[in-house]
Amino acid sequence: MSDRILPTVTDLSRPFWEGGLAGELRFQRCTACGHLRYPIDTICPRCLDAGYAWEAVSGTGTILAFGTFRRAYRASWEDRVPYAVAIIQTTEGPRLIVDVVEADPDELHVDDPVEFVFEPVTEAGIAIPHARPVRVQGDPTT
Ligand SMILES: [Zn+2]
Repeated sequence: MSDRILPTVTDLSRPFWEGGLAGELRFQRCTACGHLRYPIDTICPRCLDAGYAWEAVSGTGTILAFGTFRRAYRASWEDRVPYAVAIIQTTEGPRLIVDVVEADPDELHVDDPVEFVFEPVTEAGIAIPHARPVRVQGDPTT
């Protein structure tokens, strides 16, 4: 049995988690002032209005900061070490903290471009977002 910890999905957050199943990174956009926001909340942090609509964004961004884990704190992560956890500055503005997959943490840099990829968790009916470095064509360092 896996010791993996899954997010608590609520009626409020379900569209975010289900968006990953469609390959979409989704944020709430305030219907009063247009602010695109994350983390998920019941009111807009800019204008305090409660109205919002879910919106799929590009799913791209850059690494704002990251740290590397060289030890697994749970058995389900033992095959992943070393791995990086990064604050991703999305192209549209909101920031998320996710792990970086398909990457050697020792080769990551601040400002590296990334794209979001989604790992389906069938039993939970959701998908977990991860960041993956975007390889620039023709760049011999990537
Ligand atoms: Zn607003």
